[in-house]
Amino acid sequence: MSEETASPRRRFLKLAGGAAAAMVLLGSLPRRVWAALPHLSASTNATAKALHYVDDNTKAVAPHKPGEECSKCVHFQGKAGEAWGPCAIFPGFDVNAKGWCSGYQAKS
Ligand code: SF4
Repeated sequence: MSEETASPRRRFLKLAGGAAAAMVLLGSLPRRVWAALPHLSASTNATAKALHYVDDNTKAVAPHKPGEECSKCVHFQGKAGEAWGPCAIFPGFDVNAKGWCSGYQAKS
């Protein structure tokens, strides 16, 4: 193999290796670093309104019980200590860790 044909191939392999390394690096970053979702709001989301979602569980209506909040709900997918995180009931949105809705189910 001549140097002329090997060189473009080497460049390609270098670029491909760099791209693969970048993908591994991005994949290892916490999701929150590169893809924050819009915050859920009952004033703009009909499902959130129907389920009485609130950012602050102290303002939640019945059947809310004291101590119930999104961070303790089985549907909450955020990391511990984060203020906002995804919820399986509201795909495409982050909910407040201190929020609540009537879809609440306590983690076991
Ligand atoms: S389903 Fe759970 S995590 Fe999602 S908004 Fe309702 S209480 Fe919060």
